[in-house]
Parts: sequence; structure tokens; C-alpha cells
Amino acid sequence: MPTTGSSPLDWNRLGEEALEILQAYIRIPSVNPPADTTETADFLRRLLEESGFSAQVYSSGPTQRNVLARLPGRDPTRKPLLLLNHMDVVPADASRWKLPPFAATVQDGFLWGRGTLDMKGLGIQQLMAFLALQRAAIVPPRTVLFLATADEESGGQYGIRWMIENHWNDLGPEYVLDESGFGTRDLFASPKLVFVIQVGDKQPVWLRLRATGRPGHGSIPTRDDAPAVLLRAISRILERKEVDRPPEVVDAMVARVGASLAPHPFTDSIRRNSVALTSLSAGVGSPPKINVIPSVAEATLDCRLLPGVDPQEFLSLLQSLVADLPVSIELANEVADPAPPSRWDTPLFAAIERTVGRHYPEAVVSPLLSSGFTDSRYLRQKGAVAYGFMPMVLDPETAWSAHSDSERIPVAEFERGIRVLFDLLQEEF
Ligand SMILES: [Zn+2]
Repeated sequence: MPTTGSSPLDWNRLGEEALEILQAYIRIPSVNPPADTTETADFLRRLLEESGFSAQVYSSGPTQRNVLARLPGRDPTRKPLLLLNHMDVVPADASRWKLPPFAATVQDGFLWGRGTLDMKGLGIQQLMAFLALQRAAIVPPRTVLFLATADEESGGQYGIRWMIENHWNDLGPEYVLDESGFGTRDLFASPKLVFVIQVGDKQPVWLRLRATGRPGHGSIPTRDDAPAVLLRAISRILERKEVDRPPEVVDAMVARVGASLAPHPFTDSIRRNSVALTSLSAGVGSPPKINVIPSVAEATLDCRLLPGVDPQEFLSLLQSLVADLPVSIELANEVADPAPPSRWDTPLFAAIERTVGRHYPEAVVSPLLSSGFTDSRYLRQKGAVAYGFMPMVLDPETAWSAHSDSERIPVAEFERGIRVLFDLLQEEF
């Protein structure tokens, strides 16, 4: 049973210590590219070793590092729970930030900085919960692994994918806790507090459209000019009638909360195969000549498919919409074998519900489909049950501040969440 209330740890001091550690961690600008994570890996390794862990550092590239530590559990026959976080962050244009992105300033109860939300904050919550178990001499029911990876923000080639390809035997988790779920009062039409646990992602399918036509003089336009054809093709695709059936996980979200999803581009995206027009290019010369009709016009589309939708079938569907036009559509990314969402009727999900319920009695816990994707998908492909769970209640503006020039987290929630994780790791699952 969890030791909430009886633990000898001084949670106030531990919270202060955690904040100081997070600030120092944010101040190491581990920007990806190039995902130079030598300093962050060193930082985490030192903290782990000071607490008596032996931390293993793996070099996956010239400056890319991954850090792994292990806390053995009571039952060696159970496969581990993996606490997964990434050390790299996306770049920050300091001139656009109100507060400097790598200064880790606390203002009005919020810690500002690149990586606070995505995801050094959760990384340090995981670390502190992990260290706290050790300090309190608590042996968790199953082995817990702490893994900080090098490059989630560029697709994990030097991070989780490299670890899976080269050191799967050191991991082999049954369960994974990763980023992207959180507590919110704003995702649903009712003002209920809902902790959404990310159980699956959408499949990214990136497309390149190319329209061709006869080049000509701008004074004699035709319906078949390449840029005009491209625009017709794009509007057919963007305005196509949606026949997508919302996935089971979205039905489960609505059922658990007993309210419909609040209107928002995010809640719209997780109910459909979304298509975003992300670039348009045409023109002859630079800057393009206004009186020349080019023979080629191109566009890119970022499509995100619901679980169970076959990328090739989706591509064929779009191709059929523009079949009468001189437009080609090609895949621009490597389409992986999409892993289905993790089930949410598992012992770990139930343990999350119990733990959240103890700390936030009014909260409902719901599975979540995320609109983007995380490292979890590679672990789901390996058969692990992977959930995104960040134990913090966030207002919508804060929740969507990842990658923005106002990235931040509430300090009180950051500190409180460490205890939520600490309790969760002692649950039976
Ligand atoms: Zn992230």
C-alpha cells in the first residue's frame, strides 16, 4: 500500500530541491538540432549517483547521450515500468520571449523557460519520485527504470529508437509512463477536472502535391495553369466530406466525462483524419515574376490519421479526389507500421485512477488520443503499454505553451505532481 501521510520524507524541502534542480536543468540549453545532450546527461548522472544509483550513459552519436538508472522491485518476474523522458528541447528565439528562454525565471507562481513543459519538468518530476523512493527505502512492487533520452524532438533516431534497436534487453518494459497527458478543466464542455492519460497517437502522413501545366504569359490565363490547378486540388482535399468515424478512445473520453468535447482545433483534430496545408510554392525567378505563369506549382500537406486508418488507403482516397487534374500526390515521410493505442483497461490505468483520486478527489481520469505523436509509439510497437501522464493541472493557455515563446509550468503543480508519481510507483499493478 502507498505510504502517503506516513512517509518520512520532508515534502516541502523536496519540492524546493526539485525546483532548484529543474532550474539548473533548464539552464543547460540542450537544443535539438543537434540534440547535444552531453551536459544534460552528465547533470542527471551526477544527481543519480549522489543518491546511490549507478547510472549508465549510452553514447548514441557524437554528442547524443541517453541515461538509464534502475530501482529493483520486489517481484523480479514482473517486467519493469519505464519512466521515459527526453532531455532535448526545441530551439527558442530569445527576441520573442518576454522572459529569457534559458534563464528559468519564476514569476507569479510559474516557472518560465524552454523545456519546462516539454519535457524537462516531467523529467525532473520522474527523477525526484524515483530518488524519493530510494531515500525512503521503499522497494516498489516492480522494477522501475528511469530513462532520459537524447532526441525526441527530431524523431528519436539517437534517442528512444536507438535504445530500442541497440539496448532493448536493458529496457524490456511492460509499462511506460511518458509525456503528453495532464489535468485540465477545459477540454470538455463541462468544467469537470479531467486527467487525460495519453494512450495513443495519430499517424503522421506527409504529402507533396505537384501540379503541372503549360508555362505562359500572365496576360493569357487558362483554367489549366499549374498554380490554379493546384488550388483546385487543395480545396477539394481540404473541403472533402468527412466520413471518418471517431475512434473508440474518443468515445471513451466522452463516456467517462459524461459531456461532449469542448469545441477547439485540438478536439476537432482527434475526431478526424486532419489535413493541414503547410506550404505553397510556385513562380519563376526570385522574387517570382508577376507576369509569368509557371509550369509547376507545389504544396505540402501534413495529414494525421486516426488509429486503424491505412495510410495507403488514405492516399488513394485523396488521389481519387483529384484524379481528373494534372496533379500528383506523393508520400514525403517514412510511414511506420502504426501501433494501435494502448488499452485503458489495464492494472496500471486503474492504479493511475486510484492515485489521482487520492490527490484530486473531484477528478475523472480518461484515456486520451493525442493529435501529435511522442516516443511512446515506438514502445507500443514493441508491445509495451505506454501512457502519457504528466501529473499537473494546467489551464489551457499553459497546456498549449509547449514549443511557444511563453512555455511555462505552475510551480505548485510541478511540486505536487512529484508526490502523485511517488505514490503511483508504490501501487500494485
Ligand atoms: Zn516532448
